[in-house]
Amino acid sequence: MKLSVIGTGYVGLVSGTCFAEMGNHVICVDNNQQKLNALKNGQVTIYEPGLEILFHRNIEKQRLTFTDDLKFAIQNSDIIFLCLPTPQDEDGSADLKYVFGVAKNIGKILKENNDKDYKIIVNKSTVPVGTSKAVTNILSEFGIKNFDVVSNPEFLREGFAVEDFMKPDRIVIGSNSKKAFEIMRELYEPFVRQGNPILEMNPESSEVTKYAANSYLAMRITFMNELANFCEKVSANVDLVRKGMGADSRIGKRFLFPGIGYGGSCFPKDVNALIKTSEEFNSPIKLLKVVDEVNRQQKLVLVKKLLQHFNNDIKNKKIAIWGLAFKPNTDDMREAPSIYIIKELNKLGAKVSTYDPAAMENAKFYVDEIPEYCNEQYEPLNNADALLILTEWNEFRNPDFDKMKSLLKNPLIFDGRNIFDIEKMEELGFIYYSIGRKVVG
Ligand code: NAD
Repeated sequence: MKLSVIGTGYVGLVSGTCFAEMGNHVICVDNNQQKLNALKNGQVTIYEPGLEILFHRNIEKQRLTFTDDLKFAIQNSDIIFLCLPTPQDEDGSADLKYVFGVAKNIGKILKENNDKDYKIIVNKSTVPVGTSKAVTNILSEFGIKNFDVVSNPEFLREGFAVEDFMKPDRIVIGSNSKKAFEIMRELYEPFVRQGNPILEMNPESSEVTKYAANSYLAMRITFMNELANFCEKVSANVDLVRKGMGADSRIGKRFLFPGIGYGGSCFPKDVNALIKTSEEFNSPIKLLKVVDEVNRQQKLVLVKKLLQHFNNDIKNKKIAIWGLAFKPNTDDMREAPSIYIIKELNKLGAKVSTYDPAAMENAKFYVDEIPEYCNEQYEPLNNADALLILTEWNEFRNPDFDKMKSLLKNPLIFDGRNIFDIEKMEELGFIYYSIGRKVVG
């Protein structure tokens, strides 16, 4: 099939590459020249395990190309995927200017083309309910008739994006057109050979499904975070509670890990967008307001513990940080708890020294006051008063504890991801704070 993907970020680049891998011809469009130049020069612009090999293979086979020429892309494709940003607006709603802006340009191009070839415009961006209808109206205003708009939300996880795209749990397709369903099913069938479902529904249900899934997951994390804070007060261990809960098949084991609040480019904005849309339709989902509020507080839970430990004075203390990305296996820093923590530490006069395997370059755009980015895991620990663990990268899980102890001024660790066993840390002689478990040492 001939596809174009408008917006070559995390979702667009992965979708485009994986569609090409299945033999489709994909034209990726972006208006960021720097990104385009890098992609054209064979550089993968995001860190995503497994992407590079597919990227190079499909460029070589000439199934994957990059351009800023929207007109060329539209004229040479049957299915047009919108993988554009839908950032949070000031009032919490999703800002649709990128989606609507491109929809208008597509309308103009199709009009110039005399509307001669049938096109499917697919919204892969996360967009509020009603957006498919709004995009349809935009195209109709240009007099275009030979098209369908489809909602096809993306559920990939950063860090596992290729794996998730190639073997999705489900594909959701929202449309009112039989023809569009048939074509979309044909496109996606190779991805669900194991039998996972392609769920067909009306566009409104599809649009709500994406927000519902993300908000539910955010709520689950938030519940565990509040529960963890409670466990600390009553000598319970949240890890044991988590296992006790998760063994119940009605609950399940996944997404029950407490930490320092959810971040990333999706959960925070999607929770807020659903709050906003539900209010607009006079059916507020009140639970989500609490989820958002608790999550903001949770991002600073380690700073609170740190202050408590140092009697509210961390001025000039050297704080080492392991992990900046909002989660492991990604370089994405959007809404990462580390941003909020580092800003607060800077405000309190602490000196921050940090290491992340992939996100340090991106971090520079979000936090300008980190005095020290280190190229090696143990470097920030040198003469530091404490270590904060903010991202559970695998390489932090089995570190050289003797080396850590010898480098740190105090054997003091604040672990926001519960990556170490508390008994082991006690045995090793660390003072070890974590989330929802007793302090040892
Ligand atoms: P991103 O910011 O990484 O990528 C968006 C891309 O669109 C950028 O490369 C940008 O330069 C490009 N762009 C902006 N305006 C353009 C225009 N007019 N023409 C061409 N290109 C343009 O965003 P993302 O993380 O890929 O997210 C895209 C959408 O997918 C969002 O709605 C997001 O909520 C949703 N989503 C993201 C994820 C994720 O894990 N990142 C997962 C599921 C859904």
